[in-house]
Amino acid sequence: MKKISLTIICSAALFFVSCNSKENRSIPSNENSFEVKVDSILSLMTVEEKIGQLNLPSAGQFTTGQAKNSDIGGKIEKGLVGGLFNIKSIASIRDIQKIAIEKSRLKIPLVFGMDVIHGYETTFPIPLGLSCSWDMELIEKTARMAAQEATADGINWTFSPMVDISRDPRWGRVSEGSGEDPFLGSEVAKAMVQGYQGDDLAQNNTLMACVKHFALYGAPEAGRDYNTVDMSRIRMYNEYLPPYKAAVDAGVGSVMASFNEIDGIPATGNKWLLTDLLRDQWGFKGFVVSDYTGIEEMIYHGVGDLQQVSAQALNAGLDMDMVSEGFLTTLKKSLEEGKITIQTLDEAVKSILTAKYKLGLFDDPYKYCDDNRAKTEIFTTENRVFARDVATQSMVLLKNDNQILPLKKSGKILVVGPLANTKENMAGTWSVATPKDKSIGFLDGIKEVSGENTSVFYAKGSNLSYDENFEKIVTMFGREIPRDGRSDEQLRQEAINIASKCDVIIAAVGESSEMSGESSSRSDISIPQAQKDLLRALVKTGKPVVIVLFNGRPLVLTEESKSATAILDVWFSGSESGHAIADVLFGNVNPSGKLTSTFPRNVGQIPIYYNHKNTGRPLNNKDGKFVKFLSNYLDVPNEPLYPFGFGLSYTTFNYSNFKLSASKINTSESVQVSVDITNSGNYDGKEVVQLYIRDLVGTVTRPVKELKGFQKINLKKGETKTVIFNLSVEDLKFYNSNLDFVAEPGMFQVFVGTNSDTELMKEFELTQ
Ligand code: BGC
Repeated sequence: MKKISLTIICSAALFFVSCNSKENRSIPSNENSFEVKVDSILSLMTVEEKIGQLNLPSAGQFTTGQAKNSDIGGKIEKGLVGGLFNIKSIASIRDIQKIAIEKSRLKIPLVFGMDVIHGYETTFPIPLGLSCSWDMELIEKTARMAAQEATADGINWTFSPMVDISRDPRWGRVSEGSGEDPFLGSEVAKAMVQGYQGDDLAQNNTLMACVKHFALYGAPEAGRDYNTVDMSRIRMYNEYLPPYKAAVDAGVGSVMASFNEIDGIPATGNKWLLTDLLRDQWGFKGFVVSDYTGIEEMIYHGVGDLQQVSAQALNAGLDMDMVSEGFLTTLKKSLEEGKITIQTLDEAVKSILTAKYKLGLFDDPYKYCDDNRAKTEIFTTENRVFARDVATQSMVLLKNDNQILPLKKSGKILVVGPLANTKENMAGTWSVATPKDKSIGFLDGIKEVSGENTSVFYAKGSNLSYDENFEKIVTMFGREIPRDGRSDEQLRQEAINIASKCDVIIAAVGESSEMSGESSSRSDISIPQAQKDLLRALVKTGKPVVIVLFNGRPLVLTEESKSATAILDVWFSGSESGHAIADVLFGNVNPSGKLTSTFPRNVGQIPIYYNHKNTGRPLNNKDGKFVKFLSNYLDVPNEPLYPFGFGLSYTTFNYSNFKLSASKINTSESVQVSVDITNSGNYDGKEVVQLYIRDLVGTVTRPVKELKGFQKINLKKGETKTVIFNLSVEDLKFYNSNLDFVAEPGMFQVFVGTNSDTELMKEFELTQ
C-alpha cells in the first residue's frame, strides 16, 4: 500500500483545516485531543454531511433483512454515509473507502462493521457453547483471534458481544449469548470486550466492540423473537442489566439498541435507557447504533411516522441509524421544524467521529486493508489448532452410563444421524465469515481420530425432520442438509442393519445450525420426531447408543436422558468441530464444560432458571412428589432435567474440607471460602468449582442461590488442590427497591459445588 501518499491525501482533520476549510480556521494546537480535532471537523460540516455520518446502510452482502439501499457509492461521494457493514472482501472495502477519501468533500473515512460473533474465518463454538467452558482467558483469546483475523480483512468494528440474559430456550438467540446468569454473563462480557479491543483501539489488529442488544432483548414474551418485553426495574437492575454494564465498564466502544420495547417505549427511542441509564448513570462515552431497521420498526411498534420516530431516536441518544435511513431522510426537516436541535445532532456526530479517531482511521483510512495480513493471518493452521482446543472445552457431557465414554480406538462403530455428515452445519448460526466447506464434519473427524484399528460405518438414519417444509426453512444460508429421498422406514432400516454388526452406535442428532439464532424461535424444543424415532429404533437394537447432540439452545431431552447410554452436548463447535468432537469421544480430551443454561424437562417449565426466588409457598423437596397448596406442578417436578452449572467428566471429583474463615464479618472485611477438590477417578481432568450465595433476609426478596465466583482447575489423577474464594461486601450487594446498590446486614449462606444443585453449605453473618 502506498502509505505515504495516502497519508498525505487523507490525513483528514489537518488536511481540511489547512486546505479545505470553509471557515478558514487554524489547526488546533493540541493535536492529540480527540475533542479538539472532532470539533474542528464538525465546524466544517454541512447539516447534510453531519446527518450522513449517522447513516449506516448495509452493503448488501450477508444482510439479515432486505437491503433497501441503492447507489451507496453516490451517497458516499456526497458525504451521506458514515459506515458500512457485512462486506467480506478487503478489495471491496478498500475501493469503497477510496470513494470516501478521494471523492467526498471532507474525506471522512468510513467505518466497516461486521457480525464477527464467534470467530471470523476461524470459527469457534457458538457463544452459548463457548460460555460453557467457564474459561475467561480462553474466551478472551477467541475474541483476540477474531479481531486479528477480521482486522486483517478490512473490518474495524464488530457487532459483538451479545450479552442478552435469557431464561427462555424457546428464543432462538440464546445460542448467541452466555446463558442465564448475570454474574457469569458479566465476566464473559468483559473478556470479550477486552479480547476485541485490547488496550489500544488504534492498533491495526484491534476491533471496536459493540455490546448488544441493549436492553432486555433476551426476555421476549413466549420466547418469540422480536416480541414485547415487560419487566420490573428491580429485575432489570439485578438480573438482566449487569452484563451490559460490565461491557460498558470494560470500555466497550459502542452499544446496539435492541428491537424490543421497554416500559412501553421501543429501546431505539427510549431516552431513559440510552441517556439516563447508559450515559448519565453508567458513564458510557461511545456511540449507540440502532439494530437493523430498528428506527423504521418504531413505526410498526406504533409510536409515530418515520420523521417522528427518527427524531425520537436521536433525542433519546441514538447516534447511528442502521439501514432505516430515517435519519438521512428526515432529520434535516426535523431540525428546521425544531423537533431536534443542532446541539443534539452535533453530539451524535461527535460520537461517531471520535470513534473513527480512536480507531486511527483519520491517520490512515486504509490501515485495515493490508493484503499481506489478509493472506497470512486468516484461517491459519495455528488458529485452527487453537479452535480445535477451544471446541473441546465447550462440550458438556450430560450422561455417561457404564463409562461407555471414552471410546476405545478399536472395534466397529456406526456413525448415524442427519447431522453426522454435514460440514456446512458445523460452524453454527451467525458465522458470516466462515468458509463453510472447510469446516471439519463429524464423520470425517471420527474417521481421522479413531485410528486404523477402528472400522467406522455410516448411515444417515433419518432426515432432519419428517416435515420437508420445516426442513427447508431451517437449512438455509448455505447450511443445507440434502434431503434423502428414501422412505423414513428405509433410512431407519439401513441404520439398524449396520448397527447389528457394530459395537457401539454414535448418533449425531439434534438441531441444524439455523434452528437457532435470529428469527428461529421454537415452541417445541425437543429433538425433531424423525430423529427421535430413529433413536428409539437404535436403542431397541440393544447396542450402546451415544448421542452427540447438536443444538443452539437447551433442548428437552427427557426421553433420551433415560434411553441413551451417553449424551455429549457439542453445540455447534466451529471450524474444527469434527476433530474436536472425536477428541472428546475417544478421550484425547476429557470433557469439562458446564451448562450455562438450565435444561427443562418440558416446555411448560419455562422460564426455568437456578437463581429463582423462594415464593411464600416453596416446595422443599426435590423428589418430584406433588404437595397440594405449595408452588409446584401436578404433572412435572419443579426440578430441571439438567441444572445450571452441570457437566460430567470422565473422572470424578470429591469436595472436602469446606471452610469459611469467619462466621461474622463487618462491611470492611471479607470472608475467605476454601475447599479441597480431589480427582478421585482414573483420568486427569478439569473441574469448574462454583461458589453460590444466598442472602437469607432482605428488604426485598433475594434468589435462592446466586453465582458469585468460579474457578476452573486442572487436576491430575489422584491430585488434590485447595481452591480459595474471597467474598467481599461488594459481592453481597444488590439493587434494593430504591435501586440503590447495597449490602444488607444479616445471615448469608455460602454454597460450593460442581453445579448449582449443590447442597454443600455454610453460613456467616454480615454485621454493620
Ligand atoms: C441483528 C443484530 C445484527 C444486525 C446486523 C440484526 O438483525 O439483530 O444482532 O448485528 O442484524 O447484521
